[in-house]
Amino acid sequence: MFSCRNVLILLGPPGSGKGTQSAKLSEVLSIPAISTGEILRRECQSGSDLGRTVQAIITAGQLVSDDLMNRVIVSRMLEEDCRTGCILDGYPRTVSQAHFLDDLLNGRGIPEPTVIDFAVSMKEIVARLSRRRQCSACGRIFTAPLGGDPVRCDFDGSILSQRPDDHPKAIRARLELYRQNARDLHRYYSRRDYHRIDAARSTDEVLDEVMMILQRGARRPVQKIETALTATAAY
Ligand code: AMP
Repeated sequence: MFSCRNVLILLGPPGSGKGTQSAKLSEVLSIPAISTGEILRRECQSGSDLGRTVQAIITAGQLVSDDLMNRVIVSRMLEEDCRTGCILDGYPRTVSQAHFLDDLLNGRGIPEPTVIDFAVSMKEIVARLSRRRQCSACGRIFTAPLGGDPVRCDFDGSILSQRPDDHPKAIRARLELYRQNARDLHRYYSRRDYHRIDAARSTDEVLDEVMMILQRGARRPVQKIETALTATAAY
């Protein structure tokens, strides 16, 4: 069985379902899901100087500096609830962050992370992101129906909104950046406890596969990354 002392990393393009899966895995494994995007968005909402700087970067679809992200992740992983392990959603995003994380885990005697890489075609990603809506209160993610917008959250009735970086221009920038970094991260992790899965399936199917991987605890052959990364983008 997956040891809760382990760190589980979810890699994959924006909109590949990492957020949805990390919330479900967090419940099943009883370890916290850490979304660096959510941490940054909270900083933006706080209205701090840092938040304003970060907001401009996020809205432009660019990446926040490695140095800042590394400091954010250290302080979050040192919190008590991460004592038995955690799920990382959105970190590492660059090889430099991956190196930093390895040093952090090695230095604390934590086993090497299990990496799940979510594969979805770029065409599917653009379609998903443009319909993604988030609850302003609980953060739950919804998909807007094709005919119109669901305006309120099913759980708490709060207004749903579209993230400022889910608009076409920012989506293009984020996917381009993702493409550049994904190859390097794939190379970095592919000989390790790395599993690339088809994430274009239902939430339950993807969750089942992730759980099977964790329970098996064995390394699967690495599949080719090229298909998803070179798929003709529909934008
Ligand atoms: P996400 O919610 O994971 O899509 O992240 C939203 C935005 O936050 C990204 O487009 C980046 O601007 C920023 N961000 C989140 N995580 C990182 C990271 N590990 N490194 C750099 N920027 C990040």
